[in-house]
Amino acid sequence: MSMDRQAKAVVCREWGQPVQVETITVEGPKRDEITIKVGACGVCHSDHSATTGKIPYPAPLVLGHEAAGVVVEVGEGVSAFQEGDHVVSSFISMCGKCRQCVRGRPVLCDQARKAMINLPDGTVRTRGADGEPLNVFGACGVMAQYATLHVDNCVKVDPSIPMQNAALVSCAVMTGVGAVFNTAKVEPGSRTAVFGIGGVGLNVVQGCATAGAEMVVAVDTNEGKLAMAREFGATHTINLSEVDDATKAIRKLTGGVDYAFECVGAGTVVEQAYKTLGRGGTAVVVGVSEPKDKTSITTLSLPADERVLRGSWLGSARPVYDFPRILGLYKAGRIKLDELVTRTYTIDEAPQAFDDMLAGKNARGVIVFD
Ligand code: NAD
Ligand code: ZN
Repeated sequence: MSMDRQAKAVVCREWGQPVQVETITVEGPKRDEITIKVGACGVCHSDHSATTGKIPYPAPLVLGHEAAGVVVEVGEGVSAFQEGDHVVSSFISMCGKCRQCVRGRPVLCDQARKAMINLPDGTVRTRGADGEPLNVFGACGVMAQYATLHVDNCVKVDPSIPMQNAALVSCAVMTGVGAVFNTAKVEPGSRTAVFGIGGVGLNVVQGCATAGAEMVVAVDTNEGKLAMAREFGATHTINLSEVDDATKAIRKLTGGVDYAFECVGAGTVVEQAYKTLGRGGTAVVVGVSEPKDKTSITTLSLPADERVLRGSWLGSARPVYDFPRILGLYKAGRIKLDELVTRTYTIDEAPQAFDDMLAGKNARGVIVFD
């Protein structure tokens, strides 16, 4: 018998207002769903963007899409998961059967597009104090003590990995490392530049280093972030507040990069990243901008220099394959996860975790549950 659970959760009630922690009701799983007790949930800039309307998810909204937890209840028809399994959430709801899924691009699955908000069937298992339905971020809403998710949004992981590390694979690490390994397919000896050294950009930096890039130029406005970038494998750093023209500086240093990654979410930065490319270079847009934001590039440079401008959604992940793959690289000592967790917070401290992210204090801030 499926049961309701009371859970503290981080909720956006109105765009432009700080997040609030409230007690919500999480219904038990229906068919093909599981309920997890969340162990840890990272705070991503996308969560903040959902509270301002930059990512226009309707409020009220339970935040969180970067969590690890333990299965506490399984719904009818679920055979792939059982109570006690450790899982990480995936904001990509892959059906596994459509044309995009079978050609290895589940981030483009129709079900994943539909379930950018709420569960794949459009409903939610979350209610506020007055019984009103609460939307959930990316079919997840895992910044909460409990969450009920569709099995297509869950990936089983090695239970020996601490929750606060495993959680980060479901967004920051997958997005960053995946943009390098899966989207760009950076070759050893490549020259690369990374714009925006947040939780995501830092993982692009370590992805480039792991892929054997000759140069990894990290670009940010915050000196603390650049110091972190050096620890994660950046060979050069550029503080935007100290140079007049970052594009020129990078081109001088590298002769034009083979790969540039935009991890900020602004057309102006996309333009900058594109301008750093050498001939045959690829610019990968990872940051999520406002829907109406535009960018500008020189059209002729596309054919004449064979440049490429492309995007990367969750690091072009195949979650069921890639999440365990990245955790395997962590266990083998090739990917840093411990060092990404600058600070942990209790759920009551969630508003502080958002403030600290905006102040650029953390590689990643992670909410850890009892
Ligand atoms: P964050 O807040 O942790 O980091 C952003 C970084 O960008 C900060 O270090 C900040 O100092 C820096 N920055 C701000 N303006 C800059 C500028 N003009 N030039 C260079 N650096 C600048 O954010 P995050 O969690 O790392 O997320 C980064 C972006 O990636 C966001 O837009 C987020 O929504 C997006 N994102 C995309 C995906 C995807 O699947 N494509 C997944 C997760 C997050
Ligand atoms: Zn995210």
